[in-house]
Amino acid sequence: MRPIACFVLICGVAAAQSEPQPTPVDPGPPPSDAVILFDGKDLDAWITSEGKPIGCTIENAVMACRTGAGNIYSKSTFQSAQIHLEFSIPNMPGEQSQTRGNSGVYLQGRYEIQILDSYQNPTYPTGALGALYGQSAPLVNAARAPETWQSYDIIFNAPKCAGSAVADPGSVTVLLNGVLVQNHTVIRHEGGACDFGDPGPLMLQDHNFDEAPITVMRFRNIWYRPLD
Ligand code: MG
Repeated sequence: MRPIACFVLICGVAAAQSEPQPTPVDPGPPPSDAVILFDGKDLDAWITSEGKPIGCTIENAVMACRTGAGNIYSKSTFQSAQIHLEFSIPNMPGEQSQTRGNSGVYLQGRYEIQILDSYQNPTYPTGALGALYGQSAPLVNAARAPETWQSYDIIFNAPKCAGSAVADPGSVTVLLNGVLVQNHTVIRHEGGACDFGDPGPLMLQDHNFDEAPITVMRFRNIWYRPLD
């Protein structure tokens, strides 16, 4: 007989029955509560800036986006979210810095988590793979070689407005290939007015400019979990 231990156990059972339990989620992947943007089957979750079907193609269940296809946008929009995607950057040894394979994951179409071939390819730190572009360099360079599958897992706390004032600037935490590269990085905003509080899409960048080298970026397993 261990009466004290039994008393504690009974209290524990009572608490477990009265407190709200975490919502069950099958972790998958993808998790059962995720919004699927690409699982290899079709491109129906995406549109161009003009609202038309996108110019990317599916090759062996992989989304392939060639320079000139344009930026692509998810039809669904989100506020705060957990975002996952996998990407393969082409090998372009004749190019340097930003003209190597270059794309980007734009949160709400506004804030770019850079995709760049940063394997043995120095560039300005806030433009490297894992950077919050133009704002925050990655903590480390966890790039894999080009033509190797890599992954992003992003926790995006969306900026919030109170009228025209910034109530919360928002932040990003980013794991690149499972390695932490942005640790609750607070987003910097230019200008005074808070005009970025609305939900926005996920955008994948076509890094296109005059005489841009042809780049074919490949993507797979793209999903997000709304956190609001
Ligand atoms: Mg980019």
